Order: sequence, then C-alpha cells, then structure tokens
Amino acid sequence: DEAAAEQAAEQDDPEMTNRLRELSRQEYLKKREERKLQELEDTIQDEELLFADVELTEAEKNELARKKELLALAKERAAIANNEDEARYVMPDAYDDLQSGKVRQDKRYAAAAARYKDNADQPGMHQAEQLNWEAEQLRKAGVIGGGASAAAANDDGYEFVIDTVDFVKDAMLAGENVEARPDLEAQAEDEKERLRLEKLSKFEAIQEERRRLPIYKYREELLAAVDEYQTLIIVGETGSGKTTQIAQYLHESGYSERGKIGCTQPRRVATMSVASRVATEMGVKLGHEVGYAIRFEDCTGDKTLLKFMTDGMLLREFLSEPDLAGYSAMIIDEAHERTLHTDVLFGLIKDLIRFRPDLRVLVSSATLDAEKFSAYFDDAPIFRIPGRRYPVEIFYTKQPEADYMDASIVTALQIHVEQPLPGDILIFYTGQEEIEAAEEIFRQRTRKMGGKIAELIICPVYANLPSDMQMKIFSPTPPGARKLVLATNIAETSLTIDGIRHVIDPGFHKQNAFHPKTGMESLLVQPVSKANALQRAGRAGRTASGTCYRLYTAWSYQNELEDNVVPEIQRTNLGNVILMLKSLGIHDLLNFDFMDPPPSDAIVRALEQLYALGALNDRGSLTKLGRRMAEFPLDPMLSKMLIASEQYKVSFEIVCICAMLNVGGSLFYRPKDKLIEANAAINSFYQGNVGDHIGLYNVYASWSSEEVNFASAWCMENFVQVRSIKRARDIFDQLVNLMGRVEIELISNPTAHDAVKKCILSGFFYHTARLAEKLGKSGQAVRTAAGSTGGGGPLLYKTIKAPQQSVYIHPSSALAPKPPKPNDGGGKDGSEGSGEMLVLPPRWVVYHELVYTTREYMRQISEIESKWLVEVAPHMYSEKE
Ligand code: ADP
Ligand code: MG
Repeated sequence: DEAAAEQAAEQDDPEMTNRLRELSRQEYLKKREERKLQELEDTIQDEELLFADVELTEAEKNELARKKELLALAKERAAIANNEDEARYVMPDAYDDLQSGKVRQDKRYAAAAARYKDNADQPGMHQAEQLNWEAEQLRKAGVIGGGASAAAANDDGYEFVIDTVDFVKDAMLAGENVEARPDLEAQAEDEKERLRLEKLSKFEAIQEERRRLPIYKYREELLAAVDEYQTLIIVGETGSGKTTQIAQYLHESGYSERGKIGCTQPRRVATMSVASRVATEMGVKLGHEVGYAIRFEDCTGDKTLLKFMTDGMLLREFLSEPDLAGYSAMIIDEAHERTLHTDVLFGLIKDLIRFRPDLRVLVSSATLDAEKFSAYFDDAPIFRIPGRRYPVEIFYTKQPEADYMDASIVTALQIHVEQPLPGDILIFYTGQEEIEAAEEIFRQRTRKMGGKIAELIICPVYANLPSDMQMKIFSPTPPGARKLVLATNIAETSLTIDGIRHVIDPGFHKQNAFHPKTGMESLLVQPVSKANALQRAGRAGRTASGTCYRLYTAWSYQNELEDNVVPEIQRTNLGNVILMLKSLGIHDLLNFDFMDPPPSDAIVRALEQLYALGALNDRGSLTKLGRRMAEFPLDPMLSKMLIASEQYKVSFEIVCICAMLNVGGSLFYRPKDKLIEANAAINSFYQGNVGDHIGLYNVYASWSSEEVNFASAWCMENFVQVRSIKRARDIFDQLVNLMGRVEIELISNPTAHDAVKKCILSGFFYHTARLAEKLGKSGQAVRTAAGSTGGGGPLLYKTIKAPQQSVYIHPSSALAPKPPKPNDGGGKDGSEGSGEMLVLPPRWVVYHELVYTTREYMRQISEIESKWLVEVAPHMYSEKE
C-alpha cells in the first residue's frame, strides 16, 4: 500500500494518495489493536491459571476485574471496527454518497452503506423495538402508562397526547449517528457501574468517568487523524466528551509542548464551567495549567497550556497575535451554534492555516451540518463520534398554550408528583428574568405542598450565574430528591447535565434581531427551530430513557418552526466585528470569506455607523479614534462614549456607567413583602429626575465610596443584587485598565450631569427619540415623581433618525410614568414628600437599548436637549431640530 501511495503521489493525485494512506493507516491501526487485544487476553489467562489456588487480596481481585473489563471494552471496540464497519472517519465525498444511498465500490464503505439502507427500508424496526421496551419498562415500574396517567390525573387542564413520532428514529433520519440502547440490561449495567464508581476515590472516579465517555474509544484514532490532517471536523452527540476531552487528549499526546491548546466556546458560563471541569479532571488548579478567558475576566497564567475562551475573546487575540503563534492547536467548539464570533473566526482561521501548516484546527459540532463545515474548510475530513442515547418519548400539548410559563410550572410539578425517582427535570426558559420568576413560583408552590412531596432541588442556569452556583448544577442529586434545572438554551448543547430524564420545552428562546434598513436592533423572544427542539428533547435521554414535553402542538412543530436557526451573522449588528476586522487590516469586507455572508445591507449599515461615530474616514479606513475604539471589547457606541469622556472630563462617571450598563436589568430586586421599602430605597438613587444612566452611576458611586467600601450589607439595605454589582466592579476594573491603554486619565466630575449625558449622546446619537404626543388638554402631561400619572397608556415616542419608529419608555425606567398604586395615599413610599413635585415627561431622550415585549420599549434612558445632538454629531443633525 505504501508503494501504491507513493506512486499516486508521483502522479500528483492527492485524492488517491490520501485515500491509500488512509487505508494503510486503518490497516495498521487494526493490526495494532488486535495485537494489544491478544496480549491482554493472554495475561488474563496466565494470571487466572497462576492464581487459581491462591486466595486473592481485594486489590488483586480488583486489578483482575479491571483487566477483564478492559478486555471487554477492547473487544467491543474491535467488534465495532471489524463488523460494524461504520466509517466514522469519512472523506466528505464518500459521505455524500452514503447519505444519498449511492453505494461506493470501495469495500470500506460498502457495509456501512448497506446498513444505512437497511435502516431506511425498515422504519418500523426501531419503533417496534421501542414499543417492546416501553411495555417492559412500564410493567417493571408498575405504572400504567406515562401519557395516559398524565392526562387522566391532570385536572389543571394540561393534557398531553402521546405522539407517535419515534424520537430516536427521527434523529437517525436527520443523519445523526445515534445508537439507541433500549435494553434494560444495559441500563442495569450502567447503574451497577455508577454505584461502583461512587466507592472509588474522587480522582480515580473521575478518570473512570473519562474512560466511559463515548469519545474515549476513539482516542487513538482521533489523535492519528489530527496528526495527519491540519483541519478536522468533529461531530458527536452532546455529552460524548468533545469539549472536555479533546483538549486533554491533545495535551496528553504532546501538543502542548509546542504551544497552547485553545478551545473556544460561544458562551461565558460554559467556558468557565468546562475549564473548571477539565482542571478537576487533570487534578490542577484552575488558572494554572488549565485556564479560561471571557470578556472582562482573564483566569490564565504563565503556566497555562489549555486555554478555554469565548469565541469573542479569541477574536480579540487575533488583534494582538494575528498568527496565533502561541497556539499549537485550536478547537472551535459548538460550531453548530453559528454565533457571529464563531463565523468570523472561521474566516480568519481558514486564512491563517495557509501560513501556519503546523497549527492544528478542530471544528467540533453537535449536529450534522458537518458537510457544510467540511466544504467550507476545503473538504476537511469529518470524524464522527457515535454517541449513545436512550429513547425519548415526545409529548405535545393538544391545544396551543397561552401562558407557557404557567404551563411549564404545572407540568413540572405534575411530573414531580407522578413520576418515579430518580429522574431530574430540565426546563428551557428564555432568560434570567424568566428563570428567576419561575424559581420564585416553584419555591412558593413546593412550600405549600410541604412534606407531601419529595424534595425538589431547584438549580437555575443562565449567563450571569456566579460560579459557586454553577457547581450546584453538576452535583449529583441525592437519593430521594429530584433536581429541577431551570436553564436558558445554554443547556441545549453547551452544558450537559447528567441524570435529566424529563425535558420541558416551551419552545422559545431569546435572539437578537437587527433590521439593517432601520438600524434597529432588539432582543426578541422567538420560537426555537426544529433543530433546537431536537437537541432539547435529546437532553432527556442521556442516562436513561426519557420524556420531552413540548408546550406547543404537533401541528405547530411541523408547520411553524423553522428547520434551523438563522446564523447570528445574518441577523445582528455588525459594528463591533467590522471595527475589529478593519483593525486586522481586512478592508474588503464584501469579499471576506464568510461561510454564510451577512446581507450586504447590514455591512453597509455598519460601515455607515462606524463612519458616523468617527471610527472610519470617508475612504473607509480606520481613523485614530477608530483604532482607540477597537481596544474596547464593546459595542462601538459604548467605546465611543468612553473615549468622548476624555473631552468632557467625566471619564470616571462614564466608566462607572458603562460597567453598570453591562450588568443590565438584574441590578435591583424588589421582594414582594418589602415592596414599599425597596421602591423607596431604589428611587432615592434617581432623585432629581436624573434619569437611568446617572442613577446607575449613583448606585455604583455610593457602593464604592469610602464609607461603604463595597460592603455587601449596603447592597442588602438598598435592594441591590450583590452579584450583579460585584460583576460591575470587575468590569469597572477592566475598563480602567483599557482606558489606561488608550491613555485616558480618570477624571471625576460628579455634578456635571450635562457633560455626562453629552458623552453618552456622542456614542448613542442614533438611539434617540422624541415625544410624539400632544399632552393633556393644557398641553402638559402632569405626573408626580413618586407615581400617579394623568392617565392613559404609555406615552408615544418616535425615533429621531428616519425611518421613524414608535417606541415607548420601559416601565422599569426611572423616567417612566408609574401607574397609580391601589390604596396608596400618594406619597407613602416617597421618602420626604418628593411625591408632590410635578415633573414633565422628557421631550428628547437617549436610550441604551430597545427590547420588544408587548411593544418596542426603550431601556436605560436619559433626558437630553435637542441642541446637544448638533454639538456631538454635527454631521448627522442640523440646527433645525
Ligand atoms: P460534549 O462537548 O461532547 O457535549 P462534554 O465534554 O461537555 O461533552 O461532556 C462530557 C461529560 O462531562 C458529560 O457527561 C458531562 O455531564 C460531564 N461534565 C461536563 N462538565 C462537568 C462539570 N462541570 N461537572 C461534572 N461533570 C461535567
Ligand atoms: Mg461540548
């Protein structure tokens, strides 16, 4: 074969060369495997003979058992390699043929193709298998049938119909390589194994766990592939061990001697959690050999060899090290999420690998868009890791649910009461606010039910979750209790929580939507795609068979959900990314090698905006201001605001505000039993009608003042969330650093409110609106600072830039007219009679962001004067107003 390969190489037929090399490599691996197997079998036989009459110690018995287990594993592996002939390792063209059913003459693919056809021809097989299994399972559990009992026992009105769609089959048709393991024996085995593991010491147990991950069987093969191919696409079921293991394998096989091993993640929480898990697995301290970097937080050191980071952070690293010289390998993980940053990284990395033949690139994905990734990376080979998943039964609601929040809570409690333990529940919500609200309701309801039900351990998971709470998600559920995980779509693929058997999927997630025509961007709650729904359901079948309750109808799933999510790059504001690409010297954006190019509208719009902010000159190149702006990992509008603070001499205030804006809506909390107190405390920060931005500054300034000195007790007294403001402090520190880098001194001028607002406006002059209503009969709307408005709905504003849009002040804003409170005398909650002061609604406002709920709301608002617009953006606005 070697000779044939050489000959092919001589004839300059790279495809043939690769194929032949591949075949000889496979042959070699197989032989090596067989030899190892034989050796192991021999030792075991020898030992058994040798010790036949001897009383073995416990340790010796264990050792023997371990060897036997290894042998069994090795045999299983060999069986897969020999008989199954499922080519995990496929060249893309062969793969295509396989999918389309065209059988290749190549012996290696023939069996796999035949098998594939087999499955396609007998769709009923899996279903029958599953039905049998279900019946057996139900008999064993002594229940009459999940769906039927749920419908019968449920007087709350949520009825589920059993859907006949066989989930596992569905997934296989979608092309996923999923082995269903419906046999009870396997489950029992797993359970036995789990119990045995509990007895081992923690570290040993973790090593065992590592070896039990589906990816472990393919370790050598994977390493050989990485060795051979510069770029590799890796596909594997969520939870198969891609994220936690691949970087370690590369490290163990010596890649870290030549440079760091990087691994990108689309989400902050996943980045931290995964890094911490890998540090534990390696028995090292987080931040030493294994570290992570997320925006505003760098937990790496000189010793760091394995670096986990958000995709956005790697993009920023390109700015200081465009050839990624410090890395020997880079894993672009969760590629299927197609975040904006990951998509841009693709373009940069594809370009880079031509200049860094030694750099290894692994693109890993949980779904089968693999061909698309492969095609993009010049037909890189696809390495498949067969996962395993138990069958998941899917239920839909009979009727559309008007209130998915309520439906989800009722469903979860119903499961908790009716379904046997163990079996944890996972519910997908759209964001932190929803999760916190649900958590509150669950606590109330379970308290009411008291000792009548098993313990329900509630674990929220969302982006800003502090790390101590993250540990809770992964700690095993104690016997007799049930874990209830309330998560955003972070639990869809980025984090795998073992033990989940029930998934509740309301069918929504939050996505940013950008309209290039109007330049408006907002965060919308939108229906998930079918691909998301499939991933969500799959979470229920990791450790045992499971159920997924979809809080929408089967019809709606079929007819209303898109197949896939639109890549973020096609629906978001590109300002920040374009500024970064420009700083990297990439000028021709319209011809940049995007996997899915953004609409050219969006590019043009972003260029225009950067030009308006002064970051680009009229030839489209970066200005000095633009270069400084690019130093900040922020939206260009925020960067501009920070840099403008130099000129207005309020840099300290602006840095505070910027840090606080980044913690967003989760700053205050208002417990129901102390609402009046909380409102009074919170309102005090906004006295004098200063608006939201300066209010945020007041909060931070008080907390960081010498007297208070960042005390948590102060936060309690003032109904400020400690973790949010602590995060603002971290961001503040980072921003101070970055301000140093662009040589802006921190100057404080706390009473210069107009200067502060002008600064904000220099960045946010696009985000402005004016009151668009005739006010009252006397031409004035009158309201009191503490509450009670003249009447009617929220006041209508129109954005200033054409085309004008209708927008409203968000009810949470300090500038929003508060609805009159029932049985409230008027000024009861106001501290010193400020309730009587008359305040006009702002005519002109600058806002931080738009959120769309029932209508388009402006959030974080300050009042401005129209003439300031002319001052800060003369090229955009003229004197006419
Ligand atoms: P993949 O990337 O293929 O989805 P992962 O490498 O993330 O898979 O997960 C492999 C296994 O490691 C899963 O069983 C998961 O539950 C476990 N795991 C991951 N992070 C943690 C953690 N922080 N604590 C405990 N187990 C974890
Ligand atoms: Mg992963």
